[in-house]
Amino acid sequence: MKKIYLDYAATTPVDKRVLEEMKPYFSEKYGNASSLHSLGTEAKRALEEAREKVASVIKANPKEIIFTSSGTESNNTALKGVAFANRDKGKHIITTPIEHDCVLNSARWLKKQGFDVDFIPVDKYGLVDLEKLEELIRKDTILISVMHANNEIGTIEPIKEIGKIAKEHDVYFHTDAAQSYGKIDIDVKKMNIDLITANAHKIYGPKGVGALFIREGVKIDPLLHGGGHEFGLRSSTENVAGIVGFGKAAEIAKKEMRGESERLIKLRNTLIENILKIDDCWLNGHPDKRLPNNANFSFRFIEGESLVMYLDMQGICASTGSACSSKSLEPSHVLTAIGLKPEEAHGSLRLTTGRFTTKEDIDYVIEVLPNVVKNLRKLSPLK
Ligand SMILES: *Cc1c(COP(=O)(O)O)cnc(C)c1O
Repeated sequence: MKKIYLDYAATTPVDKRVLEEMKPYFSEKYGNASSLHSLGTEAKRALEEAREKVASVIKANPKEIIFTSSGTESNNTALKGVAFANRDKGKHIITTPIEHDCVLNSARWLKKQGFDVDFIPVDKYGLVDLEKLEELIRKDTILISVMHANNEIGTIEPIKEIGKIAKEHDVYFHTDAAQSYGKIDIDVKKMNIDLITANAHKIYGPKGVGALFIREGVKIDPLLHGGGHEFGLRSSTENVAGIVGFGKAAEIAKKEMRGESERLIKLRNTLIENILKIDDCWLNGHPDKRLPNNANFSFRFIEGESLVMYLDMQGICASTGSACSSKSLEPSHVLTAIGLKPEEAHGSLRLTTGRFTTKEDIDYVIEVLPNVVKNLRKLSPLK
């Protein structure tokens, strides 16, 4: 059976153009970028070219980009690195209840180390309350971390406004852009952002490669100490092939962003319009301040897990909650933060489209989903 992949928020396939660019860096151009000989300098050049491409997507200076192993590592570095390097200034950190687990758990860990953490309340769409944010800022606040776009419900946060507030109060501002980098416009200067997390596998690059933008002058400690790679902020021999892939993926994303975004918005709107015709179902997240490729629904009287299994039997790969949390029985922390009751959160379905999604794929889902929902409800003990 043909697979219809609608889980692009969890990960994306590596684009063939990216794979071709990476191939030579495994067995032919395999030098260590720190070596002085020609194989080394060739690797170094590839690394720096990739850094320029990754920086250019967010209008940053290449010197302000460090490569990491993942979005998770970039977020850990941003939170823990800034916290420890700025301990003399203060111990207060502000974030949101809808962040990815790697931000939330870094914040929780910092709390155990003696830092204070406050959470900005969000409304029913998942948008942060800017007035509350200003109220939460203290003299000893050192960092505000608010994600750009939410991975579950797709809501896009007002990061330009948050950047302005952070700057006025002389507090560092970090944003986790793993879902938005290369998909919607980001300008680090215009938006007053000090740190940005991105990764390759959400934009058709390889898994296990991330980047952290660190504005020049930001005080930050490394997580990994060693030979001083990546400006001393992330030691370890660089994953040259992976980074080259990230560079190519970033270049393609930048070039195709506008047209692709328009195409995806059309597909998303068709999907939303038609799925909402099903009884006892609603859209989670903001109606238009949302990622071009995200649709998230709740269906009453249904378990999201069963829905995902039944859709899989029809060839459709979807998700309930986030990929990481769907193995646990806890309802999604994002859906409960926007006010859903646990049973409503359990009945959620996330459909995320991408570069290889076609109109036919969407039509097929619109045809199949209402029947799957109907059949599951017939079996449902919840009804
Ligand atoms: C995927 C994702 C991460 C984690 O990135 P990895 O590279 O998979 O570690 C962090 N934040 C958000 C918003 C994500 O979507």
